[in-house]
Amino acid sequence: MSATLGALLKELVPDWKITVIERRAVAGEESSNEWNNAGTGHSSLCELNYTSEKSDGSIDISKAIKVNEEYQVSRQFWSYLVDSKMIRNPRDFITAVPHMSFVQGDKDVNFLRKRFEALSNNPLFEGMEYSEDPAKLADWIPLMMKDRKVNGPIAATKIDSGTDVNFGSLTRMLFDHLKSKNVEIKYNQNVDDIKRAGNGAWELKVRNVKSGQVERHSAKFVFIGGGGGSLHLLQKSGIEEGKGIGGFPVSGLFMVCKNPEVVAKHHAKVYGQAPVGAPPMSVPHLDSRFIENKESLLFGPFAGFTPKFLKFGSMLDLIKSVKPHNLVTMLACGVKNVPLTTYLIKEVVASKEKRMESLRQFIPNAKSEDWDLVVAGQRVQIIKDTVAGGKGTLQFGTEVINAADGSIAALLGASPGASTAVSVMLDVMQKCFPQHMKAWEPKIKEMIPSYGVSLLKNPDLARELHASTSRSLGLNGDHPIQIERRTVS
Ligand SMILES: Cc1cc2nc3c(=O)[nH]c(=O)nc-3n(C[C@H](O)[C@H](O)[C@H](O)COP(=O)(O)OP(=O)(O)OC[C@H]3O[C@@H](n4cnc5c(N)ncnc54)[C@H](O)[C@@H]3O)c2cc1C
Repeated sequence: MSATLGALLKELVPDWKITVIERRAVAGEESSNEWNNAGTGHSSLCELNYTSEKSDGSIDISKAIKVNEEYQVSRQFWSYLVDSKMIRNPRDFITAVPHMSFVQGDKDVNFLRKRFEALSNNPLFEGMEYSEDPAKLADWIPLMMKDRKVNGPIAATKIDSGTDVNFGSLTRMLFDHLKSKNVEIKYNQNVDDIKRAGNGAWELKVRNVKSGQVERHSAKFVFIGGGGGSLHLLQKSGIEEGKGIGGFPVSGLFMVCKNPEVVAKHHAKVYGQAPVGAPPMSVPHLDSRFIENKESLLFGPFAGFTPKFLKFGSMLDLIKSVKPHNLVTMLACGVKNVPLTTYLIKEVVASKEKRMESLRQFIPNAKSEDWDLVVAGQRVQIIKDTVAGGKGTLQFGTEVINAADGSIAALLGASPGASTAVSVMLDVMQKCFPQHMKAWEPKIKEMIPSYGVSLLKNPDLARELHASTSRSLGLNGDHPIQIERRTVS
């Protein structure tokens, strides 16, 4: 997120001095790291939780459209960076892979059919196919259909224009680019405190995590892009807008296949339905991943609970985030979410065999010895009081919290996540630099031609941009790459 904001601002106002402060020794080691998230270019092509069934039985596709449009914005900005040679080979961070949804049983098949009907005529979802025919499914997902006992309805959708994104590689590329543009990137430096100075600027207390040496930095504008670490920093800033907000950490685990023969048999991202009681971020999926030109196979994520807000965080993170101003909100959330907490605790203590049972819903003959567990990143969900949900409502989206004068902003939450970073950072700019937006608009439109325009309402533009970004990002299969199958030992 911070790398995206820096890259946008460097294009718009090259003479602004930007400094990045990062507590780890390198960039992208937390949620954005390639092994800490699923790398799905979220565009609602397969994620069933972005569409819901209304009380009249019709399907609400408004969120799916929003997420898709936001992803198109990211694709356009990445294409601009590639075309302008600001970032290297797009194949180092993005690969075309079919996105599929897969369901079983009357209720879910019914839902998927209606979802397909609602989406497939829409220009943003063109090319989506649907089938209830087990033979067709065996052609699409042979590994998932082999040895499957089909004794009820079964269905899938498939769309070839999906992507796998290596957000870790993209983060590192963006920071390399920023470094080449004289952005100072200070690694191994933890922001310990943020306070308003007398002159209205912000003063950051920054500690070198190796030597313990403390420095002070002053800035007219601060973006808190600390992932799970953002809530603590927002609270330290003391801004009114940050009061009453809490965080609920949800950890993630993936299973990684270490048998190259199994990896070679699957080539898609296949999303299913979340189990009853599971939070939306633990929708199970079987994912082909492309990391450093090697293909891997991941299954998960299994949600769990730890009080840490960052993967490399502290067990005291949750307790330290409880303040007098959010205590009631946090307690209300705790009371409301006993079933979720119980679910997460059960998930934490689940045995490998229990996890293999979930995997076998996808790969019926999966063998335990072919799969290892890897720890993914932390997602800190926002807790706040809302009109719709009342006191202590758990939110599953992202939210930009900014001071009224636009001098500081923080990004909280982690979904739909890195895929929508460009839209979310444009939102930060809109909130914090409204006085500059008019002057910046021509350059923003050069970078993001659909800026301010609904692609849904402009199908020709949607098609044109899909084609041009596919070309720029090497997604149209013109130059197929040689992918090695990865095994994890
Ligand atoms: C299991 C899982 C699966 C996911 N799957 C997807 C997916 O398929 N597609 C998708 O688009 N998104 C996905 N996401 C979400 C996505 O990973 C995040 O939304 C995104 O990476 C967040 O980026 P960020 O820059 O905000 O945070 P991060 O990448 O976590 O970066 C925050 C940085 O701030 C640093 N930091 C924190 N506190 C301090 C401090 N006090 N001082 C200095 N530095 C600090 C950290 O070290 C870190 O480098 C997933 C997330 C998880 C956990």
